[in-house]
Amino acid sequence: MIRGKSIFVCDNCKKVFVGMDVELAATVFSQPLVCPRCGSRHTKPLFESKRLYKEIWNRLDINLTN
Ligand SMILES: [Zn+2]
Repeated sequence: MIRGKSIFVCDNCKKVFVGMDVELAATVFSQPLVCPRCGSRHTKPLFESKRLYKEIWNRLDINLTN
């Protein structure tokens, strides 16, 4: 199984961390990872657009509350 690493940034506390890109070949976009500092799922790969990930975060938030 091919795995890669990507640099993530937390939108909540702005921590930058290296995360495993677990779905590198399976999907176009990486799943947001849980921030190691504050536990927020509002994280995104450093160079991805924030506008796109806001939609993903919204969907995550809806899934978590259902
Ligand atoms: Zn954080």
